[in-house]
Amino acid sequence: MSEKENDPMAMLNFDESEFQRSETLHADAPRGPSEKRICACGHSVGRHKVNQFIKERTAYICNLPNGTCPCKELRPTIKVRDTRLFVRKTLGPGVAHALIRGIQAVKEKSDEDYKAIEWLMSPTCEKCGREEIKVSPVNMSFQGTFTEAGNDVTVFLCDDCRYPGT
Ligand SMILES: [Zn+2]
Ligand SMILES: [Zn+2]
Ligand SMILES: [Zn+2]
Repeated sequence: MSEKENDPMAMLNFDESEFQRSETLHADAPRGPSEKRICACGHSVGRHKVNQFIKERTAYICNLPNGTCPCKELRPTIKVRDTRLFVRKTLGPGVAHALIRGIQAVKEKSDEDYKAIEWLMSPTCEKCGREEIKVSPVNMSFQGTFTEAGNDVTVFLCDDCRYPGT
């Protein structure tokens, strides 16, 4: 048993958990023209690319025709017939958020397409965990917990969590 086992990975900087994370990110990544899912940021999943150059949990780039969106975490949220109307920017939380602006654009264009929109998630507040309530999309940064310091990710909050102390 003195023979050395050959490990082809030995000369590579290979981290098993990092590898798994990368595989998961790619498994969720865009699937070409048949891609009809919209990320929580309000833009087509197809506009997202895995950012290979950062090592954090959040690792996406969302490209818009007129610039980039701050979204760094791909969260498929709804499925639509036509993704082309989902190119609006987020101007603020709630009704000013790109997801709501996109859905409203569909509603104004085609009642049929509006009614065909499917939610891929259930209405749960991501802060207090309450289920089956009305939620609003809010941009936050995510480093283990949600903070209002940034806008890397869209989370869904109930009104109590969105306006604490009111
Ligand atoms: Zn996104
Ligand atoms: Zn986006
Ligand atoms: Zn809540």
